[in-house]
Amino acid sequence: MRHCCQFCADDIYYLNDTENYSSRKLYIGFCPICGKPVAEIVQWRFDGICERSAQAGIRANDLMFKCKDEIAYSLKELNYSKFKSKPFGWKFGINKEVKSAGKNRVKQYACDFYGNKELIKSY
Ligand SMILES: [Zn+2]
Repeated sequence: MRHCCQFCADDIYYLNDTENYSSRKLYIGFCPICGKPVAEIVQWRFDGICERSAQAGIRANDLMFKCKDEIAYSLKELNYSKFKSKPFGWKFGINKEVKSAGKNRVKQYACDFYGNKELIKSY
């Protein structure tokens, strides 16, 4: 992948086929020079055209969120399936409010795109 320089993807997400596209892959990495996250989607259109589009920074995040429901599995997931119960890869945080003993408590989780989550803290 490319941003300020050429570098290797940190992880590759394999996406489910859609009506018009197949062999869809999402490459995720961090630019070694400026440190920005970079996401590049590569997919083959039904008529044999290869389409790629790369985004950096906050737009890489947006692209990732757009694709998150289409992820079939990732390269890291294949290689490190033994860590399956813990969030890995691209993580995001969610807060959950729960009622406990009449008080509202907030539980903070780190989540990944495979449904794994880990409690970080509650208060
Ligand atoms: Zn850069």
